[in-house]
Amino acid sequence: MPYTPALIIGAGQCGLAMSRSLTERRIDHVILERGNVANSWHTERWDSLRLLTPNWQTRLPDWHYTGTDPDGYMTAGDVAGYLGEYADKIDAPIHTNTSVRSVRRMGGGFPGWEVRTDDDLWFARTVVIATGACSTPNIPDVAAGLPDHIDQLSPIHYRNPAQLAPGGVLVVGASASGTQLADELCRAGRDVTLAVSRHVRLPRTYRGMDIQWWLDTAGILDTRFDEVPDIERARRAPSLQIVGTPDRRSVDLDLLRRRGVRLAGRVIDIDGADVRFDDLVADRCGHADDKLFRLLDRFDATARERGIEDELEPSDRPARITVPPTPASIDLDADGISTVIWATGFRPNYPWLQERVFDERGEIRHDGGVVDAEHGLYALGLPFLRRRKSTFIDGAGADAADVADHLSTHLDRVPLVV
Ligand SMILES: Cc1cc2nc3c(=O)[nH]c(=O)nc-3n(C[C@H](O)[C@H](O)[C@H](O)COP(=O)(O)OP(=O)(O)OC[C@H]3O[C@@H](n4cnc5c(N)ncnc54)[C@H](O)[C@@H]3O)c2cc1C
Repeated sequence: MPYTPALIIGAGQCGLAMSRSLTERRIDHVILERGNVANSWHTERWDSLRLLTPNWQTRLPDWHYTGTDPDGYMTAGDVAGYLGEYADKIDAPIHTNTSVRSVRRMGGGFPGWEVRTDDDLWFARTVVIATGACSTPNIPDVAAGLPDHIDQLSPIHYRNPAQLAPGGVLVVGASASGTQLADELCRAGRDVTLAVSRHVRLPRTYRGMDIQWWLDTAGILDTRFDEVPDIERARRAPSLQIVGTPDRRSVDLDLLRRRGVRLAGRVIDIDGADVRFDDLVADRCGHADDKLFRLLDRFDATARERGIEDELEPSDRPARITVPPTPASIDLDADGISTVIWATGFRPNYPWLQERVFDERGEIRHDGGVVDAEHGLYALGLPFLRRRKSTFIDGAGADAADVADHLSTHLDRVPLVV
């Protein structure tokens, strides 16, 4: 049985950042990865996808963007290449094409974990789960009511407009993925209906600066999990309604509507080809606008505090959204809609984790990434794990360092008995 003090599952940004942190602490470790480095960027992103975070923000421990376009946005292929180079640079001990099939505590009172792959059974003193927060599309149960002749897919399986059957498209969900796909399909000449539930509206730029620069500069992305009043609610916040394109355009609902996208409410029921929606779009947009304007106030205050007002362009706040009447229901057949895309978010999935570490929603229970402090089980890359930026590339380094500190102390505290 091969032995390691620390076993990391997954070689995405979080697994790699953790590897770097462990190497820095001289802790021997391995990474087991079911595909290649940055597998999800190779296999689970649509063709046109670019990061919504700018190049300067793709920071990892001892690694940052050095190209000629710091304000641009990487394609998925660029990210995969960037992470691959990082893995080489830090000499990460990765076993590729190695899927973890089960993780369970050692029996007989031994401190540590049994990690089974197709070919091996590892003994690990500690385990770090870095398998990503977006491995499984979060598709609501009502989807089962759609008739077979309507195609349905998730953003993980969407590639480009040409892949879809001719006809209109209902995109369900108006956060980052939903608005980006509605934008792309509308530009490709498709009739698009966008079902809107809770969302966060943001312009791509404000006063001449990228919105991510503002979030970073105002310290919002660094907010810690133990500073917010309701961390469970913060962890369920929708992703940002932005896109990274060379023309740095916004993709909010107002712009999409003016380009011809039909807005509808949240999908509440499906009966054959008949899809029913709630009538709360205007309320949701009003709420999102209120939050946006509070945030822009905070950005203006940041600019004043830092004395950089003169270096910025004048305020260019978007107008509040006017929502036209939205349909109570749509007959997909009558409207010529052939495809439904469920852009309703993602969730992690751990079919191989044989421990009682899940809450009633099936989510892994943890305290800032510490899943089982007594036995040395950790997680990384989950929403707001330790900071608001925990799921961003830029958030992996600081979280990994904190978790590595805990892991290191655990190894010192719990003696190895073999
Ligand atoms: C559509 C989309 C757009 C995004 N855009 C941005 C962005 O613009 N900027 C940004 O900073 N972040 C973005 N993110 C968020 C985040 O950066 C990515 O989700 C990122 O891939 C998460 O990194 P990770 O290391 O946590 O997980 P992943 O990159 O998902 O890595 C997990 C790894 O674990 C492996 N794995 C899973 N199960 C097993 C197993 N049983 N055994 C072995 N290996 C396993 C997978 O193959 C994968 O390589 C985006 C996410 C999505 C879904």
